[in-house]
Amino acid sequence: MILGEKVRSILERVFFPNRSTKKFMNDYMNRLRYIEVTEDGFLIKDINHKIEEDIKWSSVKDVDYNQKRILLTLEGKEEEMVIPMQFHENWHKLIREIPKAYPTCDYDSINAFFDNLQGCDVCGLIAVEEDGECMACGNQKWNSEIEKDFESKEAYIKQMQFYEFEPSEENEHIAINNNPEFGFESYSKWIPYIKVEDYKTITPANV
Ligand SMILES: [Zn+2]
Repeated sequence: MILGEKVRSILERVFFPNRSTKKFMNDYMNRLRYIEVTEDGFLIKDINHKIEEDIKWSSVKDVDYNQKRILLTLEGKEEEMVIPMQFHENWHKLIREIPKAYPTCDYDSINAFFDNLQGCDVCGLIAVEEDGECMACGNQKWNSEIEKDFESKEAYIKQMQFYEFEPSEENEHIAINNNPEFGFESYSKWIPYIKVEDYKTITPANV
């Protein structure tokens, strides 16, 4: 499942799909862009996978980073290119790949950003911010609010893992693992509570 579809399925689960939330979702999806890191640069694609930008690091003169946006100075272009984080998926991967050659780029702050993240019990990536939300899977860290709705922490993690690894199409290969993805490292203490067979024998309602 690509990240855009994941975001859509999370939104669909959170909001009852009435007309206004559908409009909200469509607006959101139309503004969404996906960053694909390539060997020598990166692409920016829209939700229909159409390439809007094809950037090579060799044509980037300088990079300025903060946690809200990336600013690129490009060869032969007067205006800087702005990549706002809010609507660009996979920017974590991009900031990991910035070549260590740009005088303005604050590499220490990029390293500190990743060093401050915690492991996610649901998806198994080190991607949980201070507010407790995972930037890879969108789930919340176990807290007193969630505790009211679930029998135990394990029951919560198991149910969220079920959604997280659920295939979006019938014959899609099910891969239950926490291999590094979206620029996030694997969390060594991650425990998968679900198995591939679970998708054949149970439905989400009785996980
Ligand atoms: Zn997660």
